[in-house]
Amino acid sequence: MYTPLAGKIALVTGAGSGIGRAHCELLAARGAAVIVNDLHEDGAQETVARVRAAGGQALACIADVARSASVAQAFAAAQQQLGAVDILVNNAGIPGGMKPLEDIDEAAIDAMLAVTVKGAMLCTQAVLPGMKQRRGGRIINTASITAYGTHRNVSAYAAAKGAIISLTRAWAREFAEWNILVNAVAPGRVQTPMSAELSANPEYAREVQLRVPLARRAQPAEIASVVAFLASPDADYMTGQVLGPNGGEVM
Ligand code: NAD
Repeated sequence: MYTPLAGKIALVTGAGSGIGRAHCELLAARGAAVIVNDLHEDGAQETVARVRAAGGQALACIADVARSASVAQAFAAAQQQLGAVDILVNNAGIPGGMKPLEDIDEAAIDAMLAVTVKGAMLCTQAVLPGMKQRRGGRIINTASITAYGTHRNVSAYAAAKGAIISLTRAWAREFAEWNILVNAVAPGRVQTPMSAELSANPEYAREVQLRVPLARRAQPAEIASVVAFLASPDADYMTGQVLGPNGGEVM
């Protein structure tokens, strides 16, 4: 068994579904104990059950990443039970829908920036003092190919994911002296509940054939393998980087 993360504690946000659940399953298989954050208890508990059924160690941590009090309280409780976080995967996100800018209402803009950008900042603030104290850690953020201008009518989502790339670079520089490495993954089109609405459209399948050189969408596990690499000692000299499992849609 390949367990480069043995003895490490990983916390994955938005891990009650889709890509976050796949991160937990793979990080646990590679030896980490995982703290499974989500807003929704049911999804988080299902992820915990799956990890445990496969022989791994997991704990649910229910918190809204967009609320500092919620994050501080839940992260502290989880760390007290399982141990200090070595690897943080900022994965929680919400779908932006596809609307021209003039049709996006203010509440939707606020929600997108709160969950994606503020959420990543609050979660990172919550684990940073411990990482600094132990002089080491990994932070892996979740961007999207959308940040590179691949899609029309996605202003709020693209703005949030662009900010995530900027935060990744800013934090890589800011935290390097504590050996805290900060990278991002920018997935292409992944088959998850978030993309279900899009993929129900027959135009979408045609677009995948035309625009993705590998001519298919990714499975969540294909994003998790990149994150597991970034979390591992194999990535000891990587910081400030954005890796793109996207089937070649952006080169
Ligand atoms: P998903 O909807 O399946 O899962 C997202 C999870 O985040 C859900 O369980 C949800 O409850 C949780 N969440 C939402 N708001 C939260 C909050 N405030 N606090 C805590 N948890 C919260 O989505 P997914 O497709 O697995 O996406 C995961 C990440 O990958 C997101 O950041 C998304 O933007 C990104 N991404 C997805 C795709 C794709 O094609 N699916 C492509 C590129 C990037």
